[in-house]
Amino acid sequence: MKFKYYLVFALLLLAHVIAGVVYSGYAWWWILVTILVLLAVLVQGCRNIQWNFFLKSVNRVPLSLQQLRAGTKPVALTFDDGPHENTLKVLDILKAEGVRATFFVIGKEIAGKEPILQRIKDEGHLLGNHTYAHNAAFYWQSAQLMAEDITKCNELIHAATGVSPDIFRPPFGVTNPNLAKALAKLGLQSVGWTLRSMDTIAKDPEALLNKILNSVRSNNIILLHDRCDITVAMLPELIARLREKGLSFGFPVVME
Ligand SMILES: [Zn+2]
Repeated sequence: MKFKYYLVFALLLLAHVIAGVVYSGYAWWWILVTILVLLAVLVQGCRNIQWNFFLKSVNRVPLSLQQLRAGTKPVALTFDDGPHENTLKVLDILKAEGVRATFFVIGKEIAGKEPILQRIKDEGHLLGNHTYAHNAAFYWQSAQLMAEDITKCNELIHAATGVSPDIFRPPFGVTNPNLAKALAKLGLQSVGWTLRSMDTIAKDPEALLNKILNSVRSNNIILLHDRCDITVAMLPELIARLREKGLSFGFPVVME
């Protein structure tokens, strides 16, 4: 359910429950339960980018008509939280394998690592914005301040590469009404994921690899982190095994 419809529904439901308590003897705790359920839905709407609750995100690889006719089965490898020294290792692997991917970079990580961004661009990968600050406080700001943070990241990417990304990945996959306003104002497309690898907390490369391979399907957007050693370690094998499944590699947005 879209956030605006939810709001109308929530207000009507609350009005009904309050009227029930006042006029026909519903128990008072019924209001409390109703409010808690409504809050729980709201929190889940913030946490689950796939719900498209506050804003519409791309959560699957879009297929062009030609690709559909050709029977292409793409997945998109997406790497968050760079640039990082490990990004260079990821780029080496992608180059050796002839795979293109998408990198959502953090503005405050860019200083001194501009050549990494340049390499990402030169080697045919896609750059996306992952905020300047990348912290929880980002979400407690006005739409205006959020837009300024995102713009600052885009300006740094532009200064390093000459490109201004038009795709954005919300840190932690969290969305809220102010982020929706900020992205609409800036004309940026939010990109989520289909498959969250949880590589940031994974301990065993083999287990991580199997987890991804067991659930991956055509058109999945796979969330990885180039800063994680474990991700670098299993990446060549991941690419080989995805190819064995007949999957190819694309971007989370249609490229011209
Ligand atoms: Zn992140």
